[in-house]
Amino acid sequence: MGSLTGVIFNIVRGSFVDGYGLRTTVFLKGCPLRCLWCCNPEGQKFEPELKFVAANCTLCGKCINVCPTGAIAKNVATPDKKLAIDRNKCTMCGKCVDVCFENALDIIGKRMTVDEVMAIVKKDEMYYQQSGGGVTIGGGEPTAQPEFTLALIRECKKNYIHTAVDTCGYTVTDEGFAVLAEADLLLFDIKGLDPAEHKKNTGVSNEVIIDNLRRLNSLKKSIIIRIPLIPGHNDSEDNIEKTAAFLSSLKQVERVDIIPYHKYGKIKYGEIGMIYPLEHLANDFITPEAQEKAIQTFARHGLRAQIGG
Ligand code: SF4
Ligand code: SF4
Repeated sequence: MGSLTGVIFNIVRGSFVDGYGLRTTVFLKGCPLRCLWCCNPEGQKFEPELKFVAANCTLCGKCINVCPTGAIAKNVATPDKKLAIDRNKCTMCGKCVDVCFENALDIIGKRMTVDEVMAIVKKDEMYYQQSGGGVTIGGGEPTAQPEFTLALIRECKKNYIHTAVDTCGYTVTDEGFAVLAEADLLLFDIKGLDPAEHKKNTGVSNEVIIDNLRRLNSLKKSIIIRIPLIPGHNDSEDNIEKTAAFLSSLKQVERVDIIPYHKYGKIKYGEIGMIYPLEHLANDFITPEAQEKAIQTFARHGLRAQIGG
């Protein structure tokens, strides 16, 4: 079990936002959804990706010289007048990363064994006990690498470490659902109640997600709901009202965390050769009044709601 590998793009120690207490959050690569507002675009694809931070690049040319496939070129036609990277030619050999002393290049995502992840997780064991924290597995989508995630959860449990899974809720396999059923706590995203709108915003309909949430509620799992509130996409009073009414029917929901739209992840899109889908969002701000109104709507339905989380 300990030698099973998963593709991981980050491990953050000392987090207070991914569940209760102090936590180590393990970010897995690969997600079945394509949310327009995704703030972790480096978690979408399953494979490792080359990241280029143009601001750090001094155009020394060392990476161009070592690249065996000719994937990198100086190109003043790029918006930043720095390098042009042909990602179709890149084989992820990492040679360019090794010669770049400016930290302008990096490969995001690497295979790690359960044992390797546990060695990092265990460093903060004492703090988990003191703070009521533990490990949170997020991404990307943890159920999309079910064998690895399940093995990691079980290894944590063997060591009496609390486990949380941060999930989009979209899994159609028994193995993926088993991940959700095994975790001590679920941070479960709800991105809208209308199936057609949900598909437009995320690439998939929400029936599977709603069904999985109902099943997990029946299994008496501890659930914190996370709702990203995106202007013009899912912030209508009608959607918030319907979401609150639905969630109030689920006894296991401990809390609702509302996450107002932000652009913290925007810069990462360009670094991995992607285009930010909400570049031209007309209104890009959820006002404090609208945030408070959403909290009150959930409260009217008997749900404890808060901003952030
Ligand atoms: S090695 Fe680094 S600093 Fe030099 S050109 Fe390549 S990316 Fe830029
Ligand atoms: S990772 Fe390898 S193939 Fe890709 S750009 Fe860098 S040197 Fe070239």
